[in-house]
Amino acid sequence: YIKLHDISKKFHEEQALGRLNLLIEEGEFVALVGPSGSGKSTMLDIICGFEQSDSGYVAIAGKDVTDLTPKERDVAMVFQNYALFPHMTVAENLAFGMKIRKIAKKERQMKVAEVANLLSLSEYLNKYPKELSGGQKQRVALGRAIVREPKLFLMDEPLSNLDTSLREQMSSEIKKLQKVLSVTTLYVTHSQDEAMLMADKIVVLNKGVIHQVGTPHQIYQQPADLFVASFIGKPK
Ligand code: ATP
Ligand code: MG
Repeated sequence: YIKLHDISKKFHEEQALGRLNLLIEEGEFVALVGPSGSGKSTMLDIICGFEQSDSGYVAIAGKDVTDLTPKERDVAMVFQNYALFPHMTVAENLAFGMKIRKIAKKERQMKVAEVANLLSLSEYLNKYPKELSGGQKQRVALGRAIVREPKLFLMDEPLSNLDTSLREQMSSEIKKLQKVLSVTTLYVTHSQDEAMLMADKIVVLNKGVIHQVGTPHQIYQQPADLFVASFIGKPK
């Protein structure tokens, strides 16, 4: 469903990603883990089109998107800083992307109501971001991404600003949402626990190279090498 073929990326003379190949199936929840600086964000940026790779191509749903702009790729990205518009209400934040795409007001309102309901935000539609808690803001950011009904959902450490109990709650909500929408998801996390609990498949990246792709069970029980074993936390 998503195919990365021979993707490389250098920044100045430094190799951030080296010859990556990866396949993600439709509807799969894939967690991307690896140390700081291993290239996780760079990989997401290349998939969504914020960065161009130096080699290879990216295909989404069977279509080569390498030459498409981020807007043309039908991909939604959620970052760790929520980046909500402070001067807009929750409802306006949720509707923003649809407004840009000139979707009729009636339909926008329906979609906003539906997504707000799904994310328990219905009571907050007329509030401004500064009146919301961290978890609520994060839900608005998620909502804004899913109202667009993207083909692909990319999340770069979406929960790292939240405290532990909220993280746990939100991660299970994200997981539920992903199942309900069955949207293909690539999820970057620093938390091995999160990856183990949420993912259908885990991709372990180190220094721009994929060391292993497997189910949480496989990664844990049969680490491909010493790096994976020590990173996931079980001696080989
Ligand atoms: P973290 O877990 O800290 O977010 P990451 O795995 O997301 O790390 P990347 O942000 O993808 O890592 O960075 C990979 C490498 O590429 C790093 O060495 C980084 O310094 C470098 N890099 C990333 N973006 C740029 C850029 N725009 N210009 C120059 N170097 C960059
Ligand atoms: Mg990063």
